[in-house]
Amino acid sequence: MTLDADLLEQMKTWRRLIHRHPELAFDEYRTAGLVAEKLVEFGLDVERNIAGTGVVGTLRNGAGPSIGLRADMDALPISEENTFDYRSAHPGCMHACGHDGHTAMLLGAAAHLARHRDFCGTLHFIFQPAEEMAGGAGEMIRAGLFDRFPCDAVYALHNWPGLKLGHFAINPGPMMASLDTFEIIVSGTGAHAAQPHKGVDSLLCAATIVTSLQSIVSRSIDPHEALVVTVTQLHGGDAWNVIPASTVIRGTVRAMREVDRQLAKRRIREIAGNTAAAFGATADVRHIDGYPPTVNTSRETDLAIAAARRVVGDGAVEFDCVPSMASEDFSLMLQRRPGAYMWLGVDGDAHVAPLHNPHYDFNDQALGYGAGFFVEMARGTRY
Ligand SMILES: [Zn+2]
Ligand SMILES: [Zn+2]
Repeated sequence: MTLDADLLEQMKTWRRLIHRHPELAFDEYRTAGLVAEKLVEFGLDVERNIAGTGVVGTLRNGAGPSIGLRADMDALPISEENTFDYRSAHPGCMHACGHDGHTAMLLGAAAHLARHRDFCGTLHFIFQPAEEMAGGAGEMIRAGLFDRFPCDAVYALHNWPGLKLGHFAINPGPMMASLDTFEIIVSGTGAHAAQPHKGVDSLLCAATIVTSLQSIVSRSIDPHEALVVTVTQLHGGDAWNVIPASTVIRGTVRAMREVDRQLAKRRIREIAGNTAAAFGATADVRHIDGYPPTVNTSRETDLAIAAARRVVGDGAVEFDCVPSMASEDFSLMLQRRPGAYMWLGVDGDAHVAPLHNPHYDFNDQALGYGAGFFVEMARGTRY
């Protein structure tokens, strides 16, 4: 499968234009405008302003399955340190996760499929806002995404530095971890530092809780499973001679399985509450649910592998890759619809900088592979 040469050039132009003008979560007005304008130009039915800046383009060709193909459009609050001419024109904001590339690839696939119409069924091209931390996928679902645009299955790609250009990787089952955060406020009784017996030391209690939280990974979870419990903040006291009345602990939990995610949540509450009680203090635990694990369904994983193989050949598709402890809000779509999420290699002769790095830049040579994957996904799915 080869994409038309003019589309390869156009994708590069769109990608660099989007890179030059990055926009943060839910602020992707210019990007969404470009996307909608192009989709209309290709002849798709276009719905704008879904959950703010979300756009869906629909293409129909007779009877067949209804497939959702998704790209994310948002950038990150990072100051770009690249010097090429299409570097970010907006200080403090850059496409450091390659969502400019994702958007351009899905536009390229839409252009190809609208031109050739060599598929059967309905395609929904989903351009979502706010993948980075703000849960744009969830907002689009709440805005009726799957009621307005019914999908039998959904598919997405993420570019992956470290994976060779022209390669794809996928794991049947968990692919990315969940992301939750927690806050524990430990309350004791303030006292003079020289008279600890007259107070309840919230700082000592909090320090004990931080240490004990490490036992969740080492003692509560099956050693074959992956889980991260990281404390990232510990705030208590502001004087040399005062035992603080309260101390705050904050951190994050990453899990590959929902059952471990829930277990970590329960253990954090138990450890904090019971440790505080042992010290005569109290612990107020707040857990903020972020993204669930990104879990591919088996049939759709097989279909995605087959589509990728039609683009790059059998040997370039890794189908049991080691999942990442990073996370992805496409997981929210996969909670509601079968589907698969794949990584796309971008490392050419030179390594691409890591995601979220100020020197990162999406490798334009990967555009044809990514767009090719979406085209093959659309052409090859039979239900
Ligand atoms: Zn990112
Ligand atoms: Zn990303």
